[in-house]
Amino acid sequence: MVAQNPETRARLPEMQGSVRSRSKSAGKSACATFDLLECAAQVTEERGLKTMKSGEKNKALMRVGFGIAIMGLMLWPSAAQTQRVSHDPAEPQQRTERGHGPARMMKAVGRQSVDTKSMVALIDQLVACGTRLTISSWTDPKRGIGCARDKIAARFEEISKASGGKLQVVVDKFEATAERTSGKAVPLENVYAILPGTDETLKKTVFLVSGHFDSRPSDVMDVNVDAPGADDDASGVSVSVECARLLSKLAASGKTGYRATILFAAVSGEEQGLLGAAHLVEWLKEKGYTVGGMLDDDIVGDDPAAGAPHRVRLFSGNGEIEDADSPSRELARAIEEIDGRDAIRMVFRVDRYGRGGDHYPFSRAGLPAVRFTEPLENYDHQHQTPRTENGVEYGDFAKYLNPAFLGNVARDNAEALRQLAMAPAAPTEVRLKGAVTPDAKLSWKAEEDAERAGFEILWRETTETRWTVYDFVPSAGEHVLKGVSTDNHFFAVRAVGKNGARSIATASQPEVRRAPSIDKK
Ligand SMILES: [Zn+2]
Repeated sequence: MVAQNPETRARLPEMQGSVRSRSKSAGKSACATFDLLECAAQVTEERGLKTMKSGEKNKALMRVGFGIAIMGLMLWPSAAQTQRVSHDPAEPQQRTERGHGPARMMKAVGRQSVDTKSMVALIDQLVACGTRLTISSWTDPKRGIGCARDKIAARFEEISKASGGKLQVVVDKFEATAERTSGKAVPLENVYAILPGTDETLKKTVFLVSGHFDSRPSDVMDVNVDAPGADDDASGVSVSVECARLLSKLAASGKTGYRATILFAAVSGEEQGLLGAAHLVEWLKEKGYTVGGMLDDDIVGDDPAAGAPHRVRLFSGNGEIEDADSPSRELARAIEEIDGRDAIRMVFRVDRYGRGGDHYPFSRAGLPAVRFTEPLENYDHQHQTPRTENGVEYGDFAKYLNPAFLGNVARDNAEALRQLAMAPAAPTEVRLKGAVTPDAKLSWKAEEDAERAGFEILWRETTETRWTVYDFVPSAGEHVLKGVSTDNHFFAVRAVGKNGARSIATASQPEVRRAPSIDKK
C-alpha cells in the first residue's frame, strides 16, 4: 500500500471525484487513456448491446461515442503538453541506467520479523522509571535515569545471549557540563551494543542507529515530577534495540555477514543539550572508528493522522559548497533508495524547523547523519509534565503510540543498516573537472576491495532532488562523460558490491579554479 501524507490526503476526495466522473461519462469501465477504441468495445460489451434492438444500440453507441469525445477533450491538453516538453541538450531523463552493474541487493528484514510487542514492552519499562531526566538519579534502581539504563543494558544482554554472544554490550560513563546542568559537571552514561564487522578493513567503519533514553518534563531542571517520554524518545531507543535483535539474529543465522561494524546506541543527555551524542562522536574517534552513517531515531512512535500508516520523515542537512548535497543528504538518499519511496519521506533540512537532535553533533563534524521522526507530531504529548488543563491531557504516554508505525520504522532502520554495512567503502576524493569544456570529467579513489564489482557515477539536473542517471564503471580513476555539462548537473560516485549493496554516494568536489586576476598578482 502506498502511504499518503496527511496534507495530500485532504486533496484525495477531489481527485477521486474527477476520476469517477470521467469513468461515468465513458461507461462503467475504467478506460485506459491510451486505447480508446478497445475501451469503447469493452463498454459496449458491458452494456449488453448484443441483446438490444438496433435503435437502442445506436443511442447507446452515440452515448459511448459522446463519452469518448468528452474524454478525448479532457485528455488532449495533457497529451499536447507532454509533446511540447523537450529536453535541453544533455538533460538527463528520469532514472536512466547507462551501464549495468549487479542488481540491487534484495531486502531481508521482513515486517513480520519485527517484534513490536517487545518494543512496546521496553517502552513501558522505561516509562515505569518515572522520570529519565539526565540529572535525576543514576543509582536508584526504581526511579530515575539509572533505572532506564539498567532496563536497556539488560535487554541488550538478552539479545546478545540469543545471538550466540555476537553483540558486545558497553556502558560508557562520562561527565559533561552545560547550561542545563547548571554549569556543573554531571555524570552521564550511554549504552551501546556493538556487532563487529567481518571485513578486516571495513570493520573500522561503523554504521550506527541511536535513540536517547533521557526524557524531560515541562521544566528541564525538575527531577521531582514524572517525565514518561514514551515517544520522546523511548520509541527511538526501542527502534535501536530492535535493530540489534533483528540484525544480530540475521548474523547468527549465517545468512548475512556485515562487513562494517554496526553500533546500536541508547544515549543520555539529549534534552540537556545533545550531551550524550556529542560524547559519542568523540568516543568513536578515540576508538579509531570512521563513521559510515548515523541514524538518529527521535520521536518515531506515533502516527496520529487518519489514513495511517504514513511515511516516516527523514531529515538531512545541506552541504556547504553545493547547497543540495552533503554526506548527510547522500545518506538520506541511500536510505530512501533501500527502503523505498513509500516508506521514507525525505525532508531537506537538518531537523524540524528551529529544532535539533542527536544527529546534529555528527553532521556538524561533517559526518553522514540523519534524523527519523514521525509524520505529524503532537506537541501536547512532548516535553510536558503530565497534567490535565481545560480538559486537555498533557504528557508523553505510551497509550498514544502506534505500534504498527513503530514497527515499520524499526524495519526501515534495520534494512538500511544491513545493506550499508554489507556495501564496499564509499569512494574518496571525488573530483569534478571540465569547466569551460563540453564534457564532465570525474575522478575518484578507492582502496583495493575484492568484494567490489565497480562504481556507479550518478548525476542529475541541479533542480532534481534525487540522482537520475546511473552509469556503472568497473574501476576507479578518471572517467569522461561526453557532452554532459558541468554547469547544469550535480555529480557523485558510489561503490557497488558484488553482492549488490551500494555504498552511500560521495558528492563531487569542484576543482579549484583561481580567477586570472589573482594569478597575475
Ligand atoms: Zn527527543
